[in-house]
Amino acid sequence: MDICVRDVRFRYACATQCAVSGVTFTVRAGEKVALVGASGCGKSTLLRLIAGLERPSYGVIAIGGHIVADARTFVPAERRGIGYVFQDYALFPHMTVAQNIVFGLRSWGKHQKQQRCDELLSLISLEAYARAYPHELSGGQQQRVALARALAPQPAALLLDEPFSNLDAALHEEIRAQLAHMLSRARVTTICVTHDESDTIGLADRVLHLSGCAIVEPVRAALHAVGRA
Ligand code: ADP
Repeated sequence: MDICVRDVRFRYACATQCAVSGVTFTVRAGEKVALVGASGCGKSTLLRLIAGLERPSYGVIAIGGHIVADARTFVPAERRGIGYVFQDYALFPHMTVAQNIVFGLRSWGKHQKQQRCDELLSLISLEAYARAYPHELSGGQQQRVALARALAPQPAALLLDEPFSNLDAALHEEIRAQLAHMLSRARVTTICVTHDESDTIGLADRVLHLSGCAIVEPVRAALHAVGRA
């Protein structure tokens, strides 16, 4: 499922300046892209626009060949078939870890749900916490549960906003490697906002640099694309 962003602009209601001003790029189906850029340049806002949590003021967003946002169309987040993990995690506080993870699997059978939940608990190394509640977890553990919940319904596309920011170095590397393998195997189109150079190497096929209104592909990514990195 490819993601096309064409000349997208967006200004928050209370703001005087655009948070995103005229951004254009395409992520091919199955491609994993790291989105980097200075703090405040609009990376999180861009993910929120693609997810359907904000509506562009101008421009077009298409997912899997279907327009999901333009001047006349706005497909809400729950109908875009995209998984996302934002920085606030937004876990359901009254549900256990396991219940949070299977939340999006309402149409699955009990056995399938259990199997998927076990698989994801293993991915995030939280097998012992299935019955814990979010308030009993550290920030890093909550972040891992949010990741598992987003992956559970096997979305064709995934948006990640600093998904490893609360993990220590060893766990960061381990979970990123497993995630990269899982995303490649399932050909999940992925956009990952990160400030960590190791994520651009360990997770992404390509790096997109958001700078002002432009997307720039750095030299390293361009060399990588022609097999010279
Ligand atoms: P980044 O993810 O690159 O750090 P953001 O997308 O979070 O950047 O923010 C882009 C711009 O939009 C910043 O100037 C920020 O202050 C502003 N902004 C972000 N969220 C809001 C909001 N909810 N209301 C108003 N302005 C916002």
